[in-house]
Amino acid sequence: MSNSRIAVFPGSFDPIHLGHVDLVERALPLFDEIVVAVLNNEHKRTIFSLEERVEMLEELFRDSARVRVASFEGLVADFARTESAFFLLRGLRNGKDFEYELPMTVMNRRLVPELETVFLPTRPELCDLSSSLIKEVLKLGGDPGEVLPEDVRSRLAAKLKEAAS
Ligand code: ADP
Repeated sequence: MSNSRIAVFPGSFDPIHLGHVDLVERALPLFDEIVVAVLNNEHKRTIFSLEERVEMLEELFRDSARVRVASFEGLVADFARTESAFFLLRGLRNGKDFEYELPMTVMNRRLVPELETVFLPTRPELCDLSSSLIKEVLKLGGDPGEVLPEDVRSRLAAKLKEAAS
């Protein structure tokens, strides 16, 4: 087992928002390295392509030496194993997240017994943030305020404009 404490933070990140960023920042003191892992799921429609999501994340964490960006498909447990990561990082916004996460956590440990999932509760002021809700509000012309990194916000605005035309 590697001595480094490597955590994989998997998600769709379509797109990344400040809830995700806050989670990574708060988890950094716990780990030597965090691999932000973008799920490549051909069956899930996303507004940003895999390449675009990876590019935005790389740009965002460019100055964070202990954050790496990768993409994966298939089982996150397999991906974690290939990265020699024995921790999965997940955020909890509410009880529904917990209900969704718990069976996956237990199953992941069946698959890779050394794999521990570490849950961090959201910052209360960010508990309403999800990529899908942010997209929905912006699509309908609302302004959710400062919930996206600046570059992501402008790229998303352009995407939504393109989709509407
Ligand atoms: P979203 O739910 O925003 O579409 P993902 O499905 O990509 O995001 O989720 C990736 C991980 O980020 C999950 O563990 C999820 O619980 C966590 N996460 C998402 N939003 C927040 C938030 N506002 N605060 C803390 N963690 C979050």
